Amino acid sequence: MLKFAITGISAACLLMSCTEQTTPTTNGAEEVFAVVQADPVLDFSNRADFDAADRGFIATLDGDIKDANGTPVYAPAAYDFLKADAPATVNPSLWRQSQLNAKHGLFEVVGGIYQVRGFDLSNMTLIKGDNGWIIVDPLITKETAAAALALANKHLGERPVVAVILTHSHIDHYGGIRGIASPEDIASGKVEIIAPAGFTRETVAENILAGNQMARRAGYMFGPFLPKGPGGHIGSGLGQGISTGNSGLIPPTHEITHTGETLNIDGVEMVFQMTPGAEAPEEFMFYMPGFKAFCQAEEINHTQHNLLTPRGAQIRNGLKWSKHIDDTIQMFGDKIEVSFGSHHWPTWGNADVLDFYEKQRDTYRYIHDQTLRLANHGMTMVEIAEQIELPKSLASEFYNRGYYGTTNFNSKAQYQYYYGWFDGNPAHLNPLEPIAEAKKMIEYMGGSTAVLDKAQQDYKDGEYRFVATALNYVIFAEPENKTAKNLLAKAYTRLGYQSESGPWRDFYLTGAQELTTPLLKDVVINTSNPDMIANLPLDLFFDLMAVRLNGPKAAGLDMKVNFNFTDTGEQAALHLKHAVLNTRMGQQHENATATITLSRTDLNRIILKQTSFPALMKEGTIKVDGSLLKLRKFMSLQDDFDYWFNIVTP
Ligand SMILES: [Zn+2]
Repeated sequence: MLKFAITGISAACLLMSCTEQTTPTTNGAEEVFAVVQADPVLDFSNRADFDAADRGFIATLDGDIKDANGTPVYAPAAYDFLKADAPATVNPSLWRQSQLNAKHGLFEVVGGIYQVRGFDLSNMTLIKGDNGWIIVDPLITKETAAAALALANKHLGERPVVAVILTHSHIDHYGGIRGIASPEDIASGKVEIIAPAGFTRETVAENILAGNQMARRAGYMFGPFLPKGPGGHIGSGLGQGISTGNSGLIPPTHEITHTGETLNIDGVEMVFQMTPGAEAPEEFMFYMPGFKAFCQAEEINHTQHNLLTPRGAQIRNGLKWSKHIDDTIQMFGDKIEVSFGSHHWPTWGNADVLDFYEKQRDTYRYIHDQTLRLANHGMTMVEIAEQIELPKSLASEFYNRGYYGTTNFNSKAQYQYYYGWFDGNPAHLNPLEPIAEAKKMIEYMGGSTAVLDKAQQDYKDGEYRFVATALNYVIFAEPENKTAKNLLAKAYTRLGYQSESGPWRDFYLTGAQELTTPLLKDVVINTSNPDMIANLPLDLFFDLMAVRLNGPKAAGLDMKVNFNFTDTGEQAALHLKHAVLNTRMGQQHENATATITLSRTDLNRIILKQTSFPALMKEGTIKVDGSLLKLRKFMSLQDDFDYWFNIVTP
């Protein structure tokens, strides 16, 4: 557990001359509260990370990074407020981490290896080959990647990009590729793209079916709708912010398939280690003997990572993750003199690198093993998360702190990985749904006024966690109860200020914001880009159609629909029956309700909402054989998902 004391205006606090801060409360009055205390196990006088984060600084950009229209897509200096001391509204440990992450510019890792950091959520690494740059992980958008490359070329001499290495299938590691390489250069063989096997499919597969829910929660987790500042978003722990330019995807020209695979890229030897099923479904790290340097990708970080990301994703296995790191130690541990990743700053010196690797390995292993030990003793998920605590040797290292993933959340993830959400207690087997439960609960508790009276007192006493639980019931029973909403927003705000985790802070503060201000429904959230759609495997597209199928509306229908793609030659046979849409790729039904003939390019345009199915039918670009009426019915069974669904209110 993370430990903080938020003490109110206590005598102890005054004696310690804590800073105090006033913040306007939701009812307009000023509320004064005391500084959040960090875990005493941390040694804030140890400034080694600051030295490492500054080491090798060459230059940075003045001003914002902008897109072609002049719209800012990332402002490295937006976090300059972090240069001050930690205010009362931020956990000092998170403040420290954000100060480190907010450092931006071009840095030399070691002669021949450079990084641009603080231009996006992730880092871009540049390795000097015989003839040009080998780029590792070109950020999220083409604008930030291009700005990073331009900065390097300006200060290190203009060099062509000869290869791009994509360590894994998350967008902060490939999205900016169009800023540093054109498809023409790739097609002509001028630029090679190297990625783990299965990369292209995973870039879409990991979140396509579950996408809208994940995207909405990412809006809580990364704080994009919060103001940046001491009372709002101060960083994500993993990095500062997410750039808002244009993302793309170009499939690799060479896929790495196994550990030990060695490539010589533009004169630089690289030995790859596959790390599937840990931080990403497909990922690799690599060692460069010529530099005695190791790229740790995102498996080893200056934060505890997520075994389950709160935005929602499939659970990761801490045991597997720890074994990957142990393999690294066994394979390369005695050779590495410098280690760098795609987030945070590098680590120099073999002894420090090994210590770092071992303690990261043991953090994931400890959480995995101890969660199962306690579960086997009969404890439930929440009980375990409350009790589990890293040993001092691990917890005192800043890089193991829960700036991104937390020990609490990660232990719950490991419980879920093995046991699922049910704890075996029949009271939890089939509870009422939230609104019905809340109404009953408030009735049993003596009504909302009685609950609010107690919650006010608990709020004063700092019992924010239970205030949140109780008031959540009030709001689900009485959605218009403004007093409850305001008090819950204050409790969430306090919980956010206490949080050592950037995502936890952003979840609480975004929840508070959504309780007291209307949802930003006029903000259109675009979660796909043309490259992603163009590279979307067709079978996944039809699986998504099946997820969008409105089951109750489809009940009793029996329809067969063929798809025929004129440009790719692909075919699919869809069968709707039992309110389920099954698809067989490479097949056609003989007696289909309708057969649709179109190009994949047009399908992509429909998905991107650049045109519509009826419009293309009207102009004859899409051909339909069979019953048009029934096809219309079939298409009407597809649900659209609204990004702005309620979370903190029913
Ligand atoms: Zn990343």
